[in-house]
Amino acid sequence: MSIQRSQSIYERAQAVIPGGVNSPVRGCRSVGADPVFVSQGDGASIWDVDGNRYLDLIGSWGPLILGHAHRDILDTIKEMLSMGTTFGAPTEVEVKFAETLREAVPSMEMVRAVSSGTEATMSALRLARGFTNRAKIIKADGGYHGHADCLLVAAGSGAATLGIPGSAGVPEGAARDTIVVPYNDLASVEMFCQGGDVAAMIIEPVAGNMGLVEPLPGYLEGLREITRKHGTLLIFDEVMTGFRVAYGGAQERYGVVPDLTTIGKIIGGGLPAAAFGGAAAIMQKLAPLGPVYQAGTLSGNPLAMAAGLKMMEILARPGTYDRLEHLGRRLGDGLLAAATAANVPAVMNRVGSMLTLFFTKGPVTNYETAKLADTNRFGAFFRGMRERGVFLPPSQFEAMFISLAHTDEDVDQIVAAARETLAA
Ligand SMILES: *Cc1c(COP(=O)(O)O)cnc(C)c1O
Repeated sequence: MSIQRSQSIYERAQAVIPGGVNSPVRGCRSVGADPVFVSQGDGASIWDVDGNRYLDLIGSWGPLILGHAHRDILDTIKEMLSMGTTFGAPTEVEVKFAETLREAVPSMEMVRAVSSGTEATMSALRLARGFTNRAKIIKADGGYHGHADCLLVAAGSGAATLGIPGSAGVPEGAARDTIVVPYNDLASVEMFCQGGDVAAMIIEPVAGNMGLVEPLPGYLEGLREITRKHGTLLIFDEVMTGFRVAYGGAQERYGVVPDLTTIGKIIGGGLPAAAFGGAAAIMQKLAPLGPVYQAGTLSGNPLAMAAGLKMMEILARPGTYDRLEHLGRRLGDGLLAAATAANVPAVMNRVGSMLTLFFTKGPVTNYETAKLADTNRFGAFFRGMRERGVFLPPSQFEAMFISLAHTDEDVDQIVAAARETLAA
């Protein structure tokens, strides 16, 4: 497989873009590879500029649950496009988007749209602090909630991969009020909430940014109980899990209702959109009604709203999540069997169509146990799979995503590639 043209673009890229990429994990550094440059996608496949085809398990890091270039989404965008691209004045499509989102996730009684998950979590935290008049927040070790200063403390995703849990440039003051607790541990949350000065706990209800880690039975229920008891708001960061682990997100799947929800990725239909929402009494503290300021020039962008609406409409069809569960199980079981056959110690963590194969004996229940994984082995696995036409997320600490465009045959082909790679 030649990636010559990619390599020459990469050289140009490095001269004008730091690391040659616009988001760090794409750089493929932690897996000892150079990035390939993508020219197009269709269904479950992407092509690089050298004409190589890959079965894609990144799905743009989650949004593309229908696969690439889905016809109905493209048509919807084209139709809206003919009216213009942005107005900076309210449009009806934003209202429909909020109504549809509330139907799917009833705890989001009121919704505000933004353009990225980072903005959604940052705004939700400001709102939680403004509503409670408290400063402290709790997050989980290895939990990633975008790159706002106060959240870049012991963060997962790219920060985990690059080994910069804090990030330079985050002043001590911005991180001082952030308390970090281990994922799946209730005792520490209880301990810190007791002081009565914690505004909010923000949590990925299924962790996806330290690799996939499922909440242990009783964890989310316990968080709900503890936070309620101490007047702390519970924020579910469903930027990744929203419309992924169930139509109504993790809160539907696990039956635990947060005070505020942040959501992104899938709800933009492949365009930049995200949102936060929750109880009306909290959301009404936002400007222009209340004292908590939050704004955005392109917030509620009509193209993104229309694409997101169409996405929600398609996902609401019967059978969607059964199909995703089926594909996820087939892939998860197949990858684990491939590792077992090759005598490679591995753990498969999976919730629906999100999954991570950890190269460790496991179990993996938090960031500490995730970090025991053999990242060198993962790097070799990534490179071997890419060589065989399968595009994995280039980090041990990320989840793979399967889409409705994948077929059983695609999954079998991925598993066969894994058998070859792990045997090598
Ligand atoms: C991706 C992600 C974010 C950040 O979203 P961006 O759109 O990349 O800013 C926040 N929280 C979680 C759980 C995510 O997976």
